[in-house]
Amino acid sequence: MTLNEEYRIIQNDKVMTQTLSSKLFRAEVLAMSAYKVADAKNLIKLDAMENPYTWSEEIKQEWLEVIKDCPINRYPDPEAKQLTEIIRHHNQIPAENPILLGNGSDEIIQLLLMALAPESCVLATSPSFVMYRQVALSLGLHYQDVALKAEDFSLDMKMMMQAIKTHQPAIIFLAYPNNPTGNLFNPNDIKHILDHAPGLVILDEAYAPFANTSFMDSLKDYDNLLVMRTVSKLGLAGLRLGFITGQQDIIEQLNKIRLPYNINSLTQLTAKFALEKAELFEAQTDQIIADREVLANQLNKIDGIHPYPSEANFILFKTLSKSADDIFNQLKKRGILIKNLSPQSGVLKDCLRVTIGTSEENLTFIRELSSIMQDSP
Ligand SMILES: *Cc1c(COP(=O)(O)O)cnc(C)c1O
Repeated sequence: MTLNEEYRIIQNDKVMTQTLSSKLFRAEVLAMSAYKVADAKNLIKLDAMENPYTWSEEIKQEWLEVIKDCPINRYPDPEAKQLTEIIRHHNQIPAENPILLGNGSDEIIQLLLMALAPESCVLATSPSFVMYRQVALSLGLHYQDVALKAEDFSLDMKMMMQAIKTHQPAIIFLAYPNNPTGNLFNPNDIKHILDHAPGLVILDEAYAPFANTSFMDSLKDYDNLLVMRTVSKLGLAGLRLGFITGQQDIIEQLNKIRLPYNINSLTQLTAKFALEKAELFEAQTDQIIADREVLANQLNKIDGIHPYPSEANFILFKTLSKSADDIFNQLKKRGILIKNLSPQSGVLKDCLRVTIGTSEENLTFIRELSSIMQDSP
């Protein structure tokens, strides 16, 4: 009997309201809502922390030469050995720490949580990167968040230590710098957490290229520390490539549940090609950091706008005299897409997040935002 036949029989027995999915899928899956991505067609796209720069024609030609002979009829290298070596070099990952690659760091978050025992608790800050929660709930794990201090989004260590003691989290995620707030947590606070956590602590360094600090050097000091990064914010979001490193034993176990060919051939070749051009990304990153400082100053000068300090490639700001929903919609009407975080409420009420674009895009954004703020309500 096929699933559909079985379903019809149950329908005849008058379990009419039940859909096939509600019969088959776990309650926590049915209760979730899908991760929505805004449609950015014809808009200046400043919503997703992408690098705004594309490659020169010359580099594109060089790249096409590299992928031209890619054996697309063959499976990719399941261990992506060449790419892994350049990632190790580019990120100064210690020789004794193995590296696991993922189809974006999103996939690595999923792998980490898939490996946990069923009743495990996952702990993160609020606010933080939404995928921690999304994946934890999809797998039926307990998810616990601890609010950051409202005034500066720093870790509330009293609450944090209490939550660790009460919930005994198997995994703690700390985004460093944090998304969507942009700040770096106090490294001594993080070390205190590492010293007292009963499980793993994942330092998510997605914004490492913009932050000039890292926990990579601390891997030797903590058995429960893992450092995760991605090439997405660096300028290769379309490739879907993230990586994590830590103790041999942990990475070995994760490798067992990784699908064998999770990094496709074109991503392996393209990422290797791109990371060999480190100077290109360094120049782009320097430009983005310089533009971030300009944008922060300009935001500061607009009445009714309060920007927060950022060590990433975006700036979070609070709107004081008008609602964030209103400003977000008006910007969109004027052709600019940023991220409205106000629906997440709590400390993010009336908060918007803008990704650093090209100097020109940033100017357009500031001009339109100033004009909106000057309009009477
Ligand atoms: C963007 C982001 C990621 C996701 O990275 P991908 O490699 O594109 O999946 C992970 N963590 C944080 C904190 C992010 O902001």
